[in-house]
Amino acid sequence: MAGTAVRGRLTWQTATVGPVTDETPHVRTLSLSVPDWSGHRAGQHVDVRLTAEDGYQAEREYSIASAPGEPLAITVERLDDGEVSPYLTEEAQSGDQFEVRGPVGGYFVWEPDTGGPLLLAAGGSGVVPLRAILRHRARTRSAVPVKLLYSSRSWEDVIYSSELDLPADGVEVIYTLTRSQPRAWKGYARRVDEQMLAEVAWPAGQGPLAYVCGPTSFVESVATGLVGLGYPAGRVKTERFGATGQ
Ligand SMILES: Cc1cc2nc3c(=O)[nH]c(=O)nc-3n(C[C@H](O)[C@H](O)[C@H](O)COP(=O)(O)OP(=O)(O)OC[C@H]3O[C@@H](n4cnc5c(N)ncnc54)[C@H](O)[C@@H]3O)c2cc1C
Repeated sequence: MAGTAVRGRLTWQTATVGPVTDETPHVRTLSLSVPDWSGHRAGQHVDVRLTAEDGYQAEREYSIASAPGEPLAITVERLDDGEVSPYLTEEAQSGDQFEVRGPVGGYFVWEPDTGGPLLLAAGGSGVVPLRAILRHRARTRSAVPVKLLYSSRSWEDVIYSSELDLPADGVEVIYTLTRSQPRAWKGYARRVDEQMLAEVAWPAGQGPLAYVCGPTSFVESVATGLVGLGYPAGRVKTERFGATGQ
């Protein structure tokens, strides 16, 4: 069994696209069917490989959007000048196939016995692995208290908005909309800064565990801010999506 699992993680496998869901005008979730999928943990990602007709290949990493036990899904934000994300968000249809490899990563994962309270901080599509963590918490009936601080450009750019509008007991979602806000918006309207973290984050004395994910600049500023508030660096887990992504 162990041998099978290891082979599965390291081997490219064919994924067939199932139902697709438009989350925002720029973001789409794709359910993927992978016959020999070995299962995954909340917070892991997959490698995706596309092969063009002339043999040219492009590989990118995508966080797993679904909880362990749910069908594999990824949520992709389109970068207009990108190579891979325009295909995944605009062209890929149910029944299409590409390759995936994984699950990948053992550090940015959460299990109920990992503890908390949890501070989840997302910039843009960085919410994807945090959504998997929230769903895993709900499915395992964990009572760990959670705050999700989620930074988006505008309300239209909020991914999973209907799901996050109805958070599970013990989950609080705090939004900041950095570029435009709906009329009468009462939430934050700026990039995450130290003042915001001081207002939102669990006090360090409560022994919180933080998961921070998004564009590299977002992750670095939030992680630095949390350490400044007294979070031990080892209690601030980070996942960087790269220079772009929000
Ligand atoms: C662990 C991990 C998990 C991730 N999870 C997600 C996720 O859940 N959802 C998600 O949407 N993304 C995720 N990403 C980001 C994803 O892997 C891709 O980077 C993203 O989709 C962009 O890929 P692309 O091929 O569309 O763009 P690319 O072709 O890679 O281009 C990205 C940007 O770089 C610029 N660029 C490209 N080449 C050059 C060059 N030579 N010189 C200068 N600029 C250049 C492009 O103009 C574009 O703006 C994750 C990344 C990591 C590392």
